[in-house]
Amino acid sequence: MRIGIDKDTCIGAGQCALTAPDVFTQDDDGYSTLRPGREDGGGSALVREAARACPVGAITAEETEDAGAVPFRTPGDTSRVPRPAALRAPVEKPPPV
Ligand code: SF4
Repeated sequence: MRIGIDKDTCIGAGQCALTAPDVFTQDDDGYSTLRPGREDGGGSALVREAARACPVGAITAEETEDAGAVPFRTPGDTSRVPRPAALRAPVEKPPPV
């Protein structure tokens, strides 16, 4: 995942750090910054929630080609998310009774 923080837009509300404290923190001036080693989100499912929680839309989160990436769905998105191949195996029918 590629996370962006628009430092010119951030107002230091801190919602990102409250929502995903393992990934976001605030610098000495109160503006959002990523925790060291968490520049890719660290697999946290809360990064998307943090982006939604930001009142000024300063956070962007884009999926990269990493395996196991969690698809981003917005509220009201009813499109289907492809199931992993392991879950697409045919189901055997039970024998007739
Ligand atoms: S929630 Fe948005 S405005 Fe608040 S600190 Fe985080 S990035 Fe900045």
